[in-house]
Amino acid sequence: MAIGYRGAMGDASLPCSTDRLELDALRRDLWPRQTLAMARGELPPAPAEVVWPRDAGEVRAALDRAQATGRAVVPYGAGSGVCGAASGREGALVIDLKRMNRVLELDAEARTVRVQPGLLGQHLEDWLARRGLMCGHSPSSIACSTVGGYAAARSAGQFSSRYGVFDDMLLAANLEAPSGTVRAGAWTPRGQEDLLPVLCGSEGALGVFSELLIRVVPLPERRWLRGYAFPNLVSAWTAMRGLLQAGLWPSVIRLYDPLDTRLNRSTRPPGPAATGRSLLSRMHALARRTPGLGAHLTDLPLAMPGLLNAVFGTLGSEVALILGFEGPEALVAAQVELAAPILEAARDLGPGPGERWFQHRHSVSYKLAPVFLGGGFADTMEVAATWSRLEGLHDAVRAAIGRHGLVMAHFSHAYPEGCSIYFSFAGKGELATYDALWQDALQAAAEAGGTVTHHHGVGPLKARAAAAEAGAAVRVWREIKGQVDPDGRMNPGRLFPDDQPEAPGPPPPDPDLGPVFAVDETSLLAEVDPAAPPSQVEAALRSRGLALRLRPDRALGPWLVAQRREALDSWECPVFAVQARFQDGASARIGPAPRSAAGPDLRRALLRRARAELVQVPVRRVDPDRPALLVQADPAAGDPRELRPAWRTPDQWAFEPDQRAIVEALGLSLTPASSRRAHGPRRSPTAPRERE
Ligand SMILES: Cc1cc2nc3c(=O)[nH]c(=O)nc-3n(C[C@H](O)[C@H](O)[C@H](O)COP(=O)(O)OP(=O)(O)OC[C@H]3O[C@@H](n4cnc5c(N)ncnc54)[C@H](O)[C@@H]3O)c2cc1C
Repeated sequence: MAIGYRGAMGDASLPCSTDRLELDALRRDLWPRQTLAMARGELPPAPAEVVWPRDAGEVRAALDRAQATGRAVVPYGAGSGVCGAASGREGALVIDLKRMNRVLELDAEARTVRVQPGLLGQHLEDWLARRGLMCGHSPSSIACSTVGGYAAARSAGQFSSRYGVFDDMLLAANLEAPSGTVRAGAWTPRGQEDLLPVLCGSEGALGVFSELLIRVVPLPERRWLRGYAFPNLVSAWTAMRGLLQAGLWPSVIRLYDPLDTRLNRSTRPPGPAATGRSLLSRMHALARRTPGLGAHLTDLPLAMPGLLNAVFGTLGSEVALILGFEGPEALVAAQVELAAPILEAARDLGPGPGERWFQHRHSVSYKLAPVFLGGGFADTMEVAATWSRLEGLHDAVRAAIGRHGLVMAHFSHAYPEGCSIYFSFAGKGELATYDALWQDALQAAAEAGGTVTHHHGVGPLKARAAAAEAGAAVRVWREIKGQVDPDGRMNPGRLFPDDQPEAPGPPPPDPDLGPVFAVDETSLLAEVDPAAPPSQVEAALRSRGLALRLRPDRALGPWLVAQRREALDSWECPVFAVQARFQDGASARIGPAPRSAAGPDLRRALLRRARAELVQVPVRRVDPDRPALLVQADPAAGDPRELRPAWRTPDQWAFEPDQRAIVEALGLSLTPASSRRAHGPRRSPTAPRERE
């Protein structure tokens, strides 16, 4: 039975319910462990009450009500999370954001859209597409996930290499916390710390996002997609790295391992066999046709994972890559031309695989119930590492999962510094088997130097592994949580468990090695003394044929702390790992991989609160015969916002010489590095805005 009560912030009635059916639907998200438990009759805990606020004021009213009744609060987007972050809490108040689903304001010239958090990703993209725009955020779950959930779980979409992960698109946010409204990013009040990186990935444990300001881009004039076959994974990784490090920023770059290449509907040659069936359904079909096996459909493939993984391992090493570029016609043509020599080791499969993938990019299977009811489970795990650690990470995690289940992988989020790996697996057994698989896989990822999650967030599934990854930096989280949620009411116990001992931190770097302590030439990353003047850092790098990709105007430590996300081009990450020491001697090093979603981004907050010992920053190779370029951004010519990186502050970034063709394709003019300061286009005071 639905009831209403008067909100504490006014006389509006706040829709709410204590109906059991309503509450049962909010017991869980899409964490497969809970599906497995439910197939065995175990239900997750039930909340006590649900409210459906329509605006920030009603969210505040709900928080006041939770305060008055002493209830824990769980924000709920669309419940598509796969790690249990939104799952049930006995006696909790659920703030379900479904009714906060409006687009509030579009500023087409500034290229921003202001939205409520409960808006579904697909609805936002449809609304923008009618106006010739898009966010470019395209997770497979786009039809059943919300923008608030993207921010809270640090989501990444299929076009992340060109448009960034959701963190990169989020320019500002308001979060309603028990202590009041936190205004972050571009909305941060002057003189206050910008908490946006810490709000992203906070998984409902700080407060409730009530408004978000998201960057938008024009719909691409041209979309180019093609498939390539490589002899093995290593040769394909080399090409992927080459494309990203040449500054080409593909819109799609998806590599399938040998098994996935053979089973995937996009990369299999078209014909009667290409029916798009999954690994399990193909095996089921085989079993059904075999007399006596029909009753053991799931037992057959899942009960002997070691044997099947070994058999699949003999299928051959050839792998398929889908590559895409999109944007203005001339830019795409320039990128395709520049990519050709980097793809030399590959066999061209033509446009078919890319077009098939694009057509089916959101066709996720919702038909897993028979697997679970048959005593099996299926799940996915996404990890990431620098390019230099990618092979070790892949082999270690694959072996760990392979001891318990059937496993295959693809690689779909690539950056100049590294790449993520997405493992799909299926197994058979009780919860203990599922838990053992995950424990082994998470441990293998950590030991291989990767992040334990690239874009699915943390939840109870990865809470301990994420806390171990953050080490003493968890103190920074606790300090901020204590300020905005002093009673610990928001999604309690999520993210970093209170009872977990702090992981030991690294020793200080050897000062004699400074100002450049170490260089990872494969991943193009340098570990640098954060207090050294940039001129000293540049000189030390130059002696190794390298240069900083960013152009700090002071020592890197204070420069990085001063950077505001909305002032940088968020596609390009100015900092990778950071290491800092607290007053009591404890140290933390965080940032093992590009775009980790192992909780919030604590890097800048850590640099502000502890003594910085080391920062790891992107570098580029220097060819003295081909000096770096700066772009004179003349809005009357081309639109410099099509450029990556950094259209807003091009004076801070040096462009790869090979990008000349791209810059020229956009009709922009070039100036020698060091000369004039260039500016991105500014919004005129009379620029049109659209409000809903
Ligand atoms: C089939 C399938 C495919 C998927 N593909 C992808 C993919 O390609 N890329 C990807 O990144 N993820 C993917 N996911 C995972 C999932 O869609 C993302 O984690 C998504 O960000 C969750 O959004 P949601 O609205 O469903 O959030 P929920 O699951 O409802 O919540 C997730 C977390 O965010 C918190 N939260 C939600 N809304 C708010 C808010 N307004 N304020 C504060 N906290 C909030 C919740 O408390 C919870 O901790 C997939 C999931 C499925 C089932």
